Amino acid sequence: MNILILGSGGREHALAWAVMQNPKCDKLIVAPGNAGIAQIAECASFDIEDGGEVVTFVAANAIDFVIVGPEAPLANGVADRLREAGVLVFGPSKAAARLEASKSFTKEICDAANAPTAGYGHFTDAEAAKAYIREQGAPIVVKADGLAAGKGVIVAMDLQTALDAVDDMFGGAFGGAGAEVVVEEFMEGEEASFFILCDGKTALPVGTAQDHKRVGEGDTGPNTGGMGAYSPAPVLSDEIAQKALDEIVQPTIDEMAKRGTPYQGVLYVGLMIKDGQPRLVEYNVRFGDPECQVLMMRLGAQAMDLMHSAAEERLHETQVNWADDHAITVVMAANGYPGSYEKGSVIDGLDAIAADSKNMVFHAGTTAKDGQITATGGRVLNVTARGASLQEARDRAYAMVDAIDWPGGFYRRDIGWRAL
Ligand code: AMP
Repeated sequence: MNILILGSGGREHALAWAVMQNPKCDKLIVAPGNAGIAQIAECASFDIEDGGEVVTFVAANAIDFVIVGPEAPLANGVADRLREAGVLVFGPSKAAARLEASKSFTKEICDAANAPTAGYGHFTDAEAAKAYIREQGAPIVVKADGLAAGKGVIVAMDLQTALDAVDDMFGGAFGGAGAEVVVEEFMEGEEASFFILCDGKTALPVGTAQDHKRVGEGDTGPNTGGMGAYSPAPVLSDEIAQKALDEIVQPTIDEMAKRGTPYQGVLYVGLMIKDGQPRLVEYNVRFGDPECQVLMMRLGAQAMDLMHSAAEERLHETQVNWADDHAITVVMAANGYPGSYEKGSVIDGLDAIAADSKNMVFHAGTTAKDGQITATGGRVLNVTARGASLQEARDRAYAMVDAIDWPGGFYRRDIGWRAL
């Protein structure tokens, strides 16, 4: 098969790494890719959010299967355009991608599917939202309805913060994403992510993970896109995972099918777990980044077969071959991140790392220039390892981190502390 992956982050490097190990892959192209991806696959440059451009590229390059990494092309209908053109694609339609693109849509689906989640109100005007917040009291959560690059959620511990968030959102702080607002009950508990492949009907779990959102050790400081992750997540026991499947995931998939908008692709299920009961925090319609890196490290080459099976609607006859192992990824970020950060610093020591099926440095924001790798993004490297235990995986990952010579970057030394 000739395969095209859309995206340019650590997630897509991990997807490419898994796909390249599968003997069914004859040729892999990643668009736009990055410096790390360019070491293992061909990279191409075109507008991946433009369905027409994607379809044209696919036809010109005899692509048999397209894997969509990020949410923006999905929300833009790229998977629809590919399906219309008869191309096999892993990723939901625009209508099904609303599970991420609209928070109020997801709440409405949860209502219809009777899936446990936070109580909520949905508002199109500030005064009504504020009245609801005053009535409910703090803590309370205010969310911009649309896609806001992960920044449209304010967990307000006091009333004033919540009221200000409403004003900000309706005032345009998140552009069009904040034209509608969801106000949610604050849920206590431990968060974990559950990843499910879907083919419109069948739900196939492909792993659990937890990530570290805060920039500082001990989970302190400002939020980031994620400073590290590990899989599996001990808090998501088999019993709780089954409960989440039965009470949340399968009813959602059934409801989407009933509405004529079946969900096909990966469903990222963000859960809050308290007293053995999972509740839905959010859905995403793509793999998490950096969670994808630990999932791919554990699944290896079979990841491609699983995604292909989802695209061909064969998940009912598909199984995951689990190794009893653990994976961890440590994110190395540019100094200053998540604020304004340095660009262009040189990263040394990568060549000396022996990458194999248990040790891999996935690139996120890197560029190759004059034979050197330089940092061009906020989150730059995902140092990922696998082991028989989380401790073993973690020791391996930090041994690689220690071998990387990058004065322009930093990382957290405590990834996985909760699980250890
Ligand atoms: P979301 O983008 O909806 O996942 O929200 C981002 C983060 O905000 C989540 O990962 C949670 O940590 C937090 N959060 C969102 N909704 C709630 C809620 N109802 N109760 C408590 N925390 C929440």
